[in-house]
Formats: sequence, C-alpha cells, structure tokens
Amino acid sequence: MKLIFLGPPGAGKGTLAVRVKELLKTPHISTGAIFRDAIGAKSPLGLKVKAVIDAGKLVDDETTIALVKERLEQADAQEGYILDGFPRTTAQAEALETFSAVDKVVNFDIPDSGVMERLSGRRVCRKCGFNFHAVFNKPKKEGVCDFCGGEVYIREDDKPSAIAKRLDVYRAQTQPLIDFYRKKGLLIDIDASPLVDEILVGFRKALGV
Ligand code: AMP
Repeated sequence: MKLIFLGPPGAGKGTLAVRVKELLKTPHISTGAIFRDAIGAKSPLGLKVKAVIDAGKLVDDETTIALVKERLEQADAQEGYILDGFPRTTAQAEALETFSAVDKVVNFDIPDSGVMERLSGRRVCRKCGFNFHAVFNKPKKEGVCDFCGGEVYIREDDKPSAIAKRLDVYRAQTQPLIDFYRKKGLLIDIDASPLVDEILVGFRKALGV
C-alpha cells in the first residue's frame, strides 16, 4: 500500500510509521530523517540543507522532489511505502503525481496544544532515529537509545524558536494539502491525540488492515 502521512510536526507521524512499517512490511521513507542522516554524514546534501533545517524552514522543492523520486525508484518501494514528511507543498504533491500513484493519505488530526507538548519533549536517537519523549516515553537510561545504544538528543529544530517557525510553515505551506487530497477522495482522518497504540487501532480500522 502506498501511503502518505500528513500532519503537523510533532503529530506522531514518525512514531506511527515505525509500527505501520512492521505491520505492512513496507519501507518508511522520512525526508526529514534522510536530511538528518546527510547532515550527520556532512555529505554535500547535508551541508546544503543544514542551516535551512535548523531554522525550521523548508528545503527547496527541487532538491526534495529529486531526492524522493530517486528513493521511490528503489526496489523495496515498488509495492508500497509510507511517505512521512513528504509532500509538504503543493508543488511537491503535484510532482509526486507524475512519478507515483498513492493509495491513501492519512491526515493526523491533533490540536496545537498536543503538538507543542510532543515537540518540546521529543528526544531522538542520533543513530536509528527512534523518537522518545522526555515525559511520556523516556529511554531506560538517560541519553542512550534502548534499541541501538545510540545517543539520544534534542533536534536543533525542536528548540522553541524553530518550533514556532515550523508550525507557521506547516499552516502556510502544508495544511492546504489536506483539501488537495480530500478533493481527490484519498484522505483519511485519524485522531492523533492518543498514545501510539490507540492511534494504531484507529489507523487499522480506517484502512481495513
Ligand atoms: P521532519 O523530520 O519531517 O520534521 O523534517 C525536518 C525538517 O526537514 C523540516 O523542518 C524541513 O526543514 C526538512 N524537510 C523534511 N521534509 C521536507 C519536505 N518534504 N520539504 C521540504 N523540507 C523538508
């Protein structure tokens, strides 16, 4: 199944994607994670996008679209995928239509207060990308990932000034995609406020999987 996870930063897209990836045996493609890996590796892509991402702004459409197009051409993405964090602009959504046909777009419905609570407490493993939370889902040992032993850190763009910017960018550039996909009959709304186990139940019911 070819899926897009759409929603504000901090809605829990990445956390649910880890569970759905196991369930559907399909790759989880997070553009944010690809960019963060590139930054960590100090590759040309990483050097190009670091300042933009740290400031909470969007990477340009051309770079992002080329990256996703190439990723979707790989063998593991032919039967299905979960796109997490892409598309984020109408130009990206229109470009995607030219190289892949998605089956469903899952819209993570969550109030602003929930987003702030999640983003301000989010902690991420630098190595495997697993998302923890400083209050609701702490790693067993502070600063160390339960799964791979990697360093658990606070993303630069999860600091307060960047959070505000990212929410503004979401409202201006990404929220219009809700209507874009609703009009095409592809949108499924799920309540993203509960904990991940419950969101997964809602997701399975809504998609019949
Ligand atoms: P995320 O992990 O999805 O919150 O993404 C982190 C950051 O990566 C975003 O705030 C953007 O700077 C950048 N990014 C991720 N996906 C995209 C995209 N589809 N278009 C532009 N920038 C993106």
